[in-house]
Amino acid sequence: MTSIARTSLVVAMRFVWVRGLALFLLGIVAAGCRSTRAEGRVDAPALRRFEFQEPQMGVPFRMVLHARDESQARDAAAAAFARVRELNGILSDYDEASELSRLSRSSAEQTEVAVSRDLWTVLARAEEFSRTTDGAFDVTVGPLVQQWKRARRQREIPDRAHMQMALGAIGYRHLVLDHRRLTARLTRPGMRLDLGAIAKGYAADEALKVLRQRGCSRALVAAAGDMAAGDAPPGQPGWRIRVTALDTPGAPAASYVWIVNQGLSTSGDLFQRVEIGGVRYSHIVDPHTGFGITDHSLVTVIAPDGMTADALSTSVSVLGPVRGLSYTESIPGAACHVVREPALGKPVQELWSRRWDRFRAPAP
Ligand code: AMP
Ligand code: MG
Repeated sequence: MTSIARTSLVVAMRFVWVRGLALFLLGIVAAGCRSTRAEGRVDAPALRRFEFQEPQMGVPFRMVLHARDESQARDAAAAAFARVRELNGILSDYDEASELSRLSRSSAEQTEVAVSRDLWTVLARAEEFSRTTDGAFDVTVGPLVQQWKRARRQREIPDRAHMQMALGAIGYRHLVLDHRRLTARLTRPGMRLDLGAIAKGYAADEALKVLRQRGCSRALVAAAGDMAAGDAPPGQPGWRIRVTALDTPGAPAASYVWIVNQGLSTSGDLFQRVEIGGVRYSHIVDPHTGFGITDHSLVTVIAPDGMTADALSTSVSVLGPVRGLSYTESIPGAACHVVREPALGKPVQELWSRRWDRFRAPAP
Protein backbone atom coordinates (compact mmCIF):
# COMPACT_ATOMS: atom_id res chain seq x y z
CA MET A 1 0.00 0.00 0.00
CA THR A 2 1.36 3.48 -0.79
CA SER A 3 1.95 5.84 2.08
CA ILE A 4 -0.86 8.12 0.86
CA ALA A 5 -3.26 5.21 0.78
CA ARG A 6 -2.10 4.15 4.24
CA THR A 7 -2.58 7.68 5.50
CA SER A 8 -6.13 7.93 4.22
CA LEU A 9 -6.85 4.53 5.69
CA VAL A 10 -5.66 5.78 9.06
CA VAL A 11 -7.79 8.91 8.77
CA ALA A 12 -10.82 6.88 7.75
CA MET A 13 -10.25 4.60 10.72
CA ARG A 14 -10.34 7.60 13.03
CA PHE A 15 -13.99 8.12 12.17
CA VAL A 16 -15.01 4.52 12.55
CA TRP A 17 -13.08 3.63 15.64
CA VAL A 18 -16.15 3.33 17.83
CA ARG A 19 -17.68 0.94 15.33
CA GLY A 20 -14.38 -0.90 15.18
CA LEU A 21 -14.32 -1.21 18.94
CA ALA A 22 -17.83 -2.59 18.87
CA LEU A 23 -16.79 -5.30 16.43
CA PHE A 24 -13.65 -6.00 18.38
CA LEU A 25 -15.74 -6.43 21.52
CA LEU A 26 -18.19 -8.63 19.74
CA GLY A 27 -15.31 -11.03 19.25
CA ILE A 28 -14.39 -10.81 22.90
CA VAL A 29 -17.78 -11.33 24.45
CA ALA A 30 -18.97 -13.80 21.87
CA ALA A 31 -16.06 -15.92 22.99
CA GLY A 32 -17.67 -16.10 26.45
CA CYS A 33 -19.61 -19.06 27.72
CA ARG A 34 -22.52 -20.43 25.75
CA SER A 35 -23.71 -22.78 28.48
CA THR A 36 -26.94 -21.58 30.07
CA ARG A 37 -27.37 -24.05 32.92
CA ALA A 38 -25.67 -24.31 36.31
CA GLU A 39 -23.93 -27.67 36.41
CA GLY A 40 -22.48 -29.94 39.03
CA ARG A 41 -25.03 -29.32 41.79
CA VAL A 42 -28.34 -31.12 41.82
CA ASP A 43 -30.05 -28.27 43.69
CA ALA A 44 -28.44 -25.42 41.71
CA PRO A 45 -31.10 -23.22 40.13
CA ALA A 46 -31.01 -23.17 36.33
CA LEU A 47 -29.28 -20.03 35.11
CA ARG A 48 -29.85 -18.31 31.79
CA ARG A 49 -27.40 -16.16 29.92
CA PHE A 50 -28.32 -12.53 29.18
CA GLU A 51 -26.50 -9.80 27.35
CA PHE A 52 -27.05 -6.03 27.49
CA GLN A 53 -25.37 -3.14 25.74
CA GLU A 54 -25.63 0.64 26.01
CA PRO A 55 -23.43 3.47 24.75
CA GLN A 56 -21.76 4.73 27.93
CA MET A 57 -18.54 6.66 28.55
CA GLY A 58 -18.14 7.10 24.80
CA VAL A 59 -17.97 3.35 24.07
CA PRO A 60 -20.34 0.43 23.62
CA PHE A 61 -20.60 -0.76 27.23
CA ARG A 62 -21.59 -4.43 27.50
CA MET A 63 -22.69 -6.74 30.26
CA VAL A 64 -23.03 -10.51 30.00
CA LEU A 65 -24.60 -12.16 33.01
CA HIS A 66 -26.20 -15.38 34.17
CA ALA A 67 -29.45 -14.98 36.09
CA ARG A 68 -32.46 -16.99 37.28
CA ASP A 69 -34.82 -15.20 34.95
CA GLU A 70 -35.22 -12.19 32.71
CA SER A 71 -36.58 -9.89 35.37
CA GLN A 72 -33.61 -10.49 37.68
CA ALA A 73 -31.24 -9.93 34.75
CA ARG A 74 -32.96 -6.75 33.57
CA ASP A 75 -33.12 -5.21 37.05
CA ALA A 76 -29.48 -6.01 37.74
CA ALA A 77 -28.30 -4.63 34.39
CA ALA A 78 -30.40 -1.45 34.75
CA ALA A 79 -28.93 -0.79 38.21
CA ALA A 80 -25.40 -1.44 36.93
CA PHE A 81 -25.86 0.90 33.94
CA ALA A 82 -27.26 3.57 36.29
CA ARG A 83 -24.08 3.29 38.35
CA VAL A 84 -21.96 3.71 35.20
CA ARG A 85 -23.96 6.81 34.25
CA GLU A 86 -23.41 8.22 37.71
CA LEU A 87 -19.67 7.60 37.42
CA ASN A 88 -19.52 9.23 34.01
CA GLY A 89 -21.10 12.34 35.55
CA ILE A 90 -18.23 12.42 38.04
CA LEU A 91 -15.21 11.25 36.03
CA SER A 92 -15.80 12.54 32.49
CA ASP A 93 -13.55 15.19 31.02
CA TYR A 94 -15.99 15.65 28.10
CA ASP A 95 -18.78 16.80 30.43
CA GLU A 96 -18.13 20.39 31.51
CA ALA A 97 -20.42 19.87 34.50
CA SER A 98 -18.63 16.77 35.84
CA GLU A 99 -16.83 16.84 39.17
CA LEU A 100 -13.58 16.21 37.29
CA SER A 101 -14.10 19.22 34.99
CA ARG A 102 -14.86 21.41 38.02
CA LEU A 103 -11.67 20.24 39.66
CA SER A 104 -9.70 21.00 36.47
CA ARG A 105 -11.14 24.52 36.41
CA SER A 106 -9.98 25.08 39.99
CA SER A 107 -6.42 25.18 38.59
CA ALA A 108 -7.08 28.82 37.65
CA GLU A 109 -7.09 29.75 41.36
CA GLN A 110 -5.20 26.69 42.61
CA THR A 111 -7.66 26.25 45.45
CA GLU A 112 -8.01 23.15 47.60
CA VAL A 113 -11.11 21.18 46.59
CA ALA A 114 -12.98 18.46 48.54
CA VAL A 115 -13.31 15.34 46.41
CA SER A 116 -16.10 12.70 46.33
CA ARG A 117 -15.35 9.10 47.31
CA ASP A 118 -15.41 7.85 43.68
CA LEU A 119 -13.18 10.59 42.30
CA TRP A 120 -10.87 10.15 45.26
CA THR A 121 -10.55 6.39 44.67
CA VAL A 122 -9.54 6.95 41.04
CA LEU A 123 -7.19 9.90 41.70
CA ALA A 124 -5.44 8.09 44.56
CA ARG A 125 -4.89 5.01 42.37
CA ALA A 126 -3.68 7.19 39.50
CA GLU A 127 -1.20 8.89 41.82
CA GLU A 128 0.19 5.50 42.85
CA PHE A 129 0.66 4.54 39.19
CA SER A 130 2.35 7.87 38.44
CA ARG A 131 4.77 7.49 41.32
CA THR A 132 5.68 3.88 40.49
CA THR A 133 6.00 4.44 36.72
CA ASP A 134 8.07 7.56 37.27
CA GLY A 135 5.42 9.67 35.59
CA ALA A 136 4.81 7.51 32.50
CA PHE A 137 1.21 7.19 33.67
CA ASP A 138 -0.13 10.65 34.38
CA VAL A 139 -3.76 11.81 34.49
CA THR A 140 -2.68 15.47 34.22
CA VAL A 141 -1.89 14.90 30.52
CA GLY A 142 -5.16 16.59 29.46
CA PRO A 143 -3.56 19.63 27.74
CA LEU A 144 -1.24 17.34 25.75
CA VAL A 145 -4.06 14.98 24.83
CA GLN A 146 -5.98 18.00 23.48
CA GLN A 147 -2.98 18.97 21.34
CA TRP A 148 -2.80 15.48 19.86
CA LYS A 149 -6.54 15.38 19.23
CA ARG A 150 -6.07 18.49 17.12
CA ALA A 151 -3.03 16.91 15.48
CA ARG A 152 -5.14 13.91 14.45
CA ARG A 153 -7.84 16.20 13.02
CA GLN A 154 -5.40 18.38 11.07
CA ARG A 155 -2.74 15.74 10.45
CA GLU A 156 -0.05 18.08 11.72
CA ILE A 157 2.35 17.67 14.61
CA PRO A 158 1.56 20.22 17.37
CA ASP A 159 3.78 23.28 16.95
CA ARG A 160 6.54 24.06 19.43
CA ALA A 161 4.73 26.88 21.18
CA HIS A 162 1.57 24.83 21.79
CA MET A 163 3.62 21.86 22.91
CA GLN A 164 5.60 23.98 25.39
CA MET A 165 2.39 25.48 26.74
CA ALA A 166 0.87 22.03 27.22
CA LEU A 167 4.04 20.67 28.84
CA GLY A 168 3.96 23.63 31.25
CA ALA A 169 0.50 22.62 32.46
CA ILE A 170 1.09 18.93 33.13
CA GLY A 171 2.90 16.82 35.70
CA TYR A 172 1.47 14.50 38.33
CA ARG A 173 3.34 16.31 41.09
CA HIS A 174 1.14 19.33 40.41
CA LEU A 175 -1.93 17.34 41.41
CA VAL A 176 -1.55 17.40 45.18
CA LEU A 177 -3.76 14.99 47.12
CA ASP A 178 -4.26 15.38 50.84
CA HIS A 179 -4.89 11.80 51.96
CA ARG A 180 -6.14 12.88 55.40
CA ARG A 181 -8.60 15.53 54.31
CA LEU A 182 -9.51 13.88 50.96
CA THR A 183 -8.88 17.06 49.01
CA ALA A 184 -7.08 17.84 45.78
CA ARG A 185 -5.24 20.95 44.65
CA LEU A 186 -3.95 21.69 41.16
CA THR A 187 -0.87 23.83 41.50
CA ARG A 188 -0.46 25.13 37.93
CA PRO A 189 -2.84 27.26 35.91
CA GLY A 190 -4.43 25.69 32.84
CA MET A 191 -4.29 22.11 34.11
CA ARG A 192 -6.77 19.60 32.72
CA LEU A 193 -7.27 16.14 34.18
CA ASP A 194 -8.01 13.22 31.87
CA LEU A 195 -9.05 9.87 33.35
CA GLY A 196 -9.37 8.18 29.94
CA ALA A 197 -6.76 5.59 30.88
CA ILE A 198 -8.30 4.45 34.15
CA ALA A 199 -11.98 5.45 34.56
CA LYS A 200 -13.50 2.75 32.34
CA GLY A 201 -11.75 0.01 34.30
CA TYR A 202 -13.09 1.49 37.54
CA ALA A 203 -16.59 1.79 36.07
CA ALA A 204 -16.46 -1.86 34.97
CA ASP A 205 -15.47 -2.91 38.52
CA GLU A 206 -18.27 -0.84 40.03
CA ALA A 207 -20.87 -2.16 37.58
CA LEU A 208 -19.78 -5.71 38.40
CA LYS A 209 -20.21 -4.94 42.11
CA VAL A 210 -23.81 -3.89 41.47
CA LEU A 211 -24.50 -7.06 39.48
CA ARG A 212 -23.11 -9.12 42.38
CA GLN A 213 -25.27 -7.25 44.89
CA ARG A 214 -28.26 -8.19 42.73
CA GLY A 215 -27.32 -11.88 42.85
CA CYS A 216 -25.61 -12.06 39.45
CA SER A 217 -22.02 -12.86 40.36
CA ARG A 218 -21.44 -14.84 37.14
CA ALA A 219 -20.98 -11.75 35.01
CA LEU A 220 -18.64 -9.94 32.66
CA VAL A 221 -18.65 -6.17 32.19
CA ALA A 222 -16.81 -4.77 29.19
CA ALA A 223 -16.31 -1.06 28.58
CA ALA A 224 -14.90 -1.69 25.09
CA GLY A 225 -11.39 -3.03 25.77
CA ASP A 226 -11.57 -2.52 29.56
CA MET A 227 -13.25 -5.38 31.38
CA ALA A 228 -14.10 -6.76 34.78
CA ALA A 229 -15.02 -10.44 35.11
CA GLY A 230 -16.85 -11.99 38.05
CA ASP A 231 -17.40 -15.67 38.81
CA ALA A 232 -17.12 -18.09 35.90
CA PRO A 233 -20.11 -18.88 33.72
CA PRO A 234 -21.83 -22.13 34.74
CA GLY A 235 -19.80 -25.19 33.76
CA GLN A 236 -16.79 -23.16 32.58
CA PRO A 237 -13.40 -22.54 34.17
CA GLY A 238 -13.67 -18.81 33.47
CA TRP A 239 -14.56 -16.22 30.85
CA ARG A 240 -12.77 -16.97 27.62
CA ILE A 241 -11.56 -13.67 26.14
CA ARG A 242 -10.22 -13.25 22.65
CA VAL A 243 -7.03 -11.21 22.51
CA THR A 244 -7.29 -9.55 19.14
CA ALA A 245 -4.45 -9.59 16.60
CA LEU A 246 -2.42 -6.52 15.69
CA ASP A 247 -3.56 -5.20 12.30
CA THR A 248 -0.25 -5.49 10.50
CA PRO A 249 1.32 -8.11 8.23
CA GLY A 250 3.32 -10.73 10.12
CA ALA A 251 1.44 -10.22 13.40
CA PRO A 252 0.57 -13.36 15.36
CA ALA A 253 -3.04 -14.56 15.13
CA ALA A 254 -5.59 -13.74 17.82
CA SER A 255 -5.25 -15.81 20.99
CA TYR A 256 -7.45 -16.62 23.99
CA VAL A 257 -7.21 -16.33 27.77
CA TRP A 258 -9.37 -17.39 30.71
CA ILE A 259 -10.16 -14.79 33.35
CA VAL A 260 -12.23 -15.14 36.52
CA ASN A 261 -12.70 -12.48 39.22
CA GLN A 262 -10.13 -10.36 37.37
CA GLY A 263 -9.81 -7.38 35.10
CA LEU A 264 -8.52 -7.38 31.53
CA SER A 265 -7.59 -4.35 29.52
CA THR A 266 -6.23 -3.62 26.08
CA SER A 267 -4.36 -0.46 25.09
CA GLY A 268 -2.89 0.49 21.79
CA ASP A 269 -3.09 2.69 18.75
CA LEU A 270 -5.39 0.37 16.81
CA PHE A 271 -8.22 2.87 16.40
CA GLN A 272 -6.84 6.25 17.44
CA ARG A 273 -3.66 7.35 15.76
CA VAL A 274 -2.34 9.67 13.11
CA GLU A 275 0.44 9.08 10.61
CA ILE A 276 2.60 12.09 9.77
CA GLY A 277 5.79 11.91 7.72
CA GLY A 278 5.93 8.12 7.91
CA VAL A 279 5.63 8.07 11.71
CA ARG A 280 2.56 6.93 13.61
CA TYR A 281 1.53 8.83 16.71
CA SER A 282 -0.86 7.24 19.18
CA HIS A 283 -3.53 8.89 21.34
CA ILE A 284 -1.41 7.69 24.28
CA VAL A 285 1.23 10.31 25.03
CA ASP A 286 4.58 10.20 26.75
CA PRO A 287 4.34 12.92 29.42
CA HIS A 288 8.15 13.28 29.44
CA THR A 289 8.47 14.15 25.75
CA GLY A 290 5.01 15.50 24.95
CA PHE A 291 4.77 13.20 21.90
CA GLY A 292 2.19 10.56 21.09
CA ILE A 293 3.92 7.21 21.41
CA THR A 294 5.08 5.81 18.08
CA ASP A 295 5.02 2.13 18.94
CA HIS A 296 2.33 0.41 16.83
CA SER A 297 1.29 -2.01 19.55
CA LEU A 298 -1.43 -3.89 21.31
CA VAL A 299 -0.88 -4.31 25.04
CA THR A 300 -3.20 -6.68 26.90
CA VAL A 301 -3.11 -6.87 30.66
CA ILE A 302 -4.76 -9.19 33.17
CA ALA A 303 -4.88 -7.91 36.76
CA PRO A 304 -6.81 -8.55 39.97
CA ASP A 305 -9.38 -5.88 39.03
CA GLY A 306 -10.49 -3.72 36.11
CA MET A 307 -9.04 -0.43 37.31
CA THR A 308 -5.58 -1.96 37.80
CA ALA A 309 -5.73 -3.63 34.38
CA ASP A 310 -6.81 -0.36 32.73
CA ALA A 311 -4.09 1.81 34.27
CA LEU A 312 -1.47 -0.89 33.78
CA SER A 313 -2.14 -1.46 30.07
CA THR A 314 -1.71 2.26 29.39
CA SER A 315 1.40 2.38 31.60
CA VAL A 316 3.01 -0.50 29.69
CA SER A 317 2.21 1.24 26.39
CA VAL A 318 4.18 4.30 27.54
CA LEU A 319 6.99 2.44 29.33
CA GLY A 320 7.66 0.23 26.30
CA PRO A 321 7.99 -3.54 26.41
CA VAL A 322 11.18 -3.94 28.44
CA ARG A 323 10.36 -1.64 31.34
CA GLY A 324 6.65 -2.39 30.93
CA LEU A 325 7.02 -6.13 31.39
CA SER A 326 9.26 -5.82 34.43
CA TYR A 327 6.84 -3.25 35.90
CA THR A 328 4.00 -5.75 35.35
CA GLU A 329 5.94 -8.43 37.25
CA SER A 330 6.07 -6.06 40.24
CA ILE A 331 2.27 -5.92 40.50
CA PRO A 332 0.82 -8.93 42.37
CA GLY A 333 -1.32 -11.14 40.13
CA ALA A 334 -0.74 -9.08 36.98
CA ALA A 335 0.25 -10.43 33.57
CA CYS A 336 0.87 -8.75 30.26
CA HIS A 337 1.06 -9.60 26.56
CA VAL A 338 2.56 -7.20 24.01
CA VAL A 339 2.51 -7.35 20.23
CA ARG A 340 4.32 -4.47 18.58
CA GLU A 341 5.66 -3.16 15.32
CA PRO A 342 8.42 -0.86 16.60
CA ALA A 343 8.31 1.30 13.45
CA LEU A 344 6.57 1.12 10.08
CA GLY A 345 7.72 -1.98 8.20
CA LYS A 346 9.91 -3.31 11.04
CA PRO A 347 9.43 -6.96 12.09
CA VAL A 348 6.60 -7.58 14.54
CA GLN A 349 7.59 -8.65 18.06
CA GLU A 350 5.52 -10.66 20.53
CA LEU A 351 6.40 -10.58 24.24
CA TRP A 352 4.69 -11.65 27.44
CA SER A 353 5.31 -11.51 31.16
CA ARG A 354 5.92 -14.68 33.18
CA ARG A 355 2.39 -15.04 34.57
CA TRP A 356 0.76 -14.81 31.14
CA ASP A 357 1.05 -18.59 30.51
CA ARG A 358 -1.30 -19.27 33.46
CA PHE A 359 -4.18 -17.68 31.61
CA ARG A 360 -3.82 -19.14 28.12
CA ALA A 361 -6.99 -20.77 26.80
CA PRO A 362 -7.65 -22.90 23.72
CA ALA A 363 -9.59 -21.37 20.85
CA PRO A 364 -13.33 -22.20 21.16
P1 AMP B 1 -6.26 3.57 27.35
O1 AMP B 1 -7.11 3.35 26.15
O2 AMP B 1 -6.84 3.02 28.62
O3 AMP B 1 -4.84 3.14 27.15
O4 AMP B 1 -6.24 5.15 27.62
C1 AMP B 1 -5.84 6.07 26.65
C2 AMP B 1 -6.34 7.44 27.03
O5 AMP B 1 -5.71 7.87 28.25
C3 AMP B 1 -6.01 8.52 26.03
O6 AMP B 1 -7.03 8.64 25.05
C4 AMP B 1 -5.91 9.76 26.90
O7 AMP B 1 -7.20 10.25 27.19
C5 AMP B 1 -5.32 9.22 28.19
N1 AMP B 1 -3.83 9.21 28.22
C6 AMP B 1 -2.97 9.40 27.18
N2 AMP B 1 -1.69 9.29 27.58
C7 AMP B 1 -1.73 9.02 28.91
C8 AMP B 1 -0.72 8.80 29.91
N3 AMP B 1 0.59 8.83 29.60
N4 AMP B 1 -1.11 8.57 31.18
C9 AMP B 1 -2.44 8.54 31.50
N5 AMP B 1 -3.43 8.75 30.61
C10 AMP B 1 -3.10 8.97 29.33
MG1 MG C 1 -5.99 2.17 30.28
